[in-house]
Amino acid sequence: MPRHDHFSTRSIHVGSEPDPSTGAVVPSLSVATTFRQEGVSKPLRGFDYSRSSNPTRSDLESLLTSLETCPSATVANDARHDASGGESLVFASGSAATAAIAHWVTLNKEEGGAGGKDGKGFGGHILAVNDVYGGTARYLSRASRPTGLEVTYLNMEKAGEKGIREAIRPDTKLIWLELPTNPLLLVPPVRLISDIVHSLPSETRPLILVDSTFLSPYYFTPLIPTNGEHPLADITMSSLSKYSSGHSDIILGSLTISPTTNKLRPELIKGLRFLQNSMGASPSPRDCHLMIRSIKTLSVRMIKHGLNALRISNWLSTKTNLIEKVRYPGLKTDNAFEYVQDLISKNAKRELEFLGWKFPFNKENKDFDIDVDETNLEFTRNLGIPFGGMITFTIKNANSKQVEKFCTELRISILAESLGGVESLIEVPYGMTHAHLPQETLNELNITPNLIRLSVGIEDYEDLIEDLEQALEIAMGTEKATVD
Ligand SMILES: *Cc1c(COP(=O)(O)O)cnc(C)c1O
Repeated sequence: MPRHDHFSTRSIHVGSEPDPSTGAVVPSLSVATTFRQEGVSKPLRGFDYSRSSNPTRSDLESLLTSLETCPSATVANDARHDASGGESLVFASGSAATAAIAHWVTLNKEEGGAGGKDGKGFGGHILAVNDVYGGTARYLSRASRPTGLEVTYLNMEKAGEKGIREAIRPDTKLIWLELPTNPLLLVPPVRLISDIVHSLPSETRPLILVDSTFLSPYYFTPLIPTNGEHPLADITMSSLSKYSSGHSDIILGSLTISPTTNKLRPELIKGLRFLQNSMGASPSPRDCHLMIRSIKTLSVRMIKHGLNALRISNWLSTKTNLIEKVRYPGLKTDNAFEYVQDLISKNAKRELEFLGWKFPFNKENKDFDIDVDETNLEFTRNLGIPFGGMITFTIKNANSKQVEKFCTELRISILAESLGGVESLIEVPYGMTHAHLPQETLNELNITPNLIRLSVGIEDYEDLIEDLEQALEIAMGTEKATVD
């Protein structure tokens, strides 16, 4: 009989085999740094030293591989293992994962690297989207400079097919995408980029990496091919510190290689394992254990984040007197909405269909009575598609003081950097996460002092909007009174 372990089943069971010696349903945390060997260089289960590999970390790696690369129909017989043929590597942070892949570009071929400029190591080129995560740009452009790495940042949407083709150099080893981007939530044309890259010779073409931190594999799985084509990307990078953790209490990161790419370029995993071991940015097994527990609820959390974010982004866009430029890619009025329909994972689609969503989404479809109030699921279904929990918006004509007042008057949402926790977090990119960018870049990206980024948590929707409304009134009302 065919087996179909779907996303939520696998997120609970893969990598969580009951302990064979005690039957404990939660596998033991493996804290040992070193492992007894049966003879010289004969480790019992392949583990010798925990920087190189560790049982708890391996469990987390197989869980991530399953969620990122495995279609529901090709699961392992026993439900506890991943049989997709993909590979994951977990690092001490998302930034350590970034460092490893950047280093891989410049690493010589004998060590499994991309070879750098001429195959012998040193140099090499990455073509990246223009508004990558700040820490990524900092690493690629500054920290890795001594390795000779060169990076071009390109507005891929604007560049179009011709511009993207021209930007790919003979020594371009990697194309770095982020989806959606931060903080503007833009969606690069990943399908076009993938088609361009796949028209190049397969042995030497650049690999495509997608930083999919903002969506998690619940909403976006670019390593799983749709319609029998090649997968959209070769590698996903994720800061597990965000949605995968979900509770703002673990820093970890990962890289996952698609089964197709793993077969085509077996040197990639060899080079990355070499770097993971050599660079030493190994995660603590305790963090890996806690991460496995967190991921068991990823599915239920992500659907609630998405429903809340869709409703709040709609509510914000009705407050036209105070709020403008609301961005949420899942909102049917958003520029990226057509991409969202194309890119949303099969798993998320399936769960949304159960809740009554229909695909393709009919923008005109008002299949509800106009009197249905906005607390209704039917009303929500007409707004668009839940697609992650991140929203950005600007407060109309607000100065920095008013913006700060708004953020500090909130009772529920917390003024803090980071995202993806069960608690709503709000921040001002201009003065916080993106403050280190040159003014020219801030202007170019339209990151203004009144731009707000909201990581919508899974609290009650009505409480969240009540809170936003009271803080908006205080922040914008007070100022008016003093002006008058
Ligand atoms: C947070 C984040 C990172 C960096 O991850 P850390 O775990 O903080 O090192 C990379 N990319 C994106 C999109 C992020 O949000």
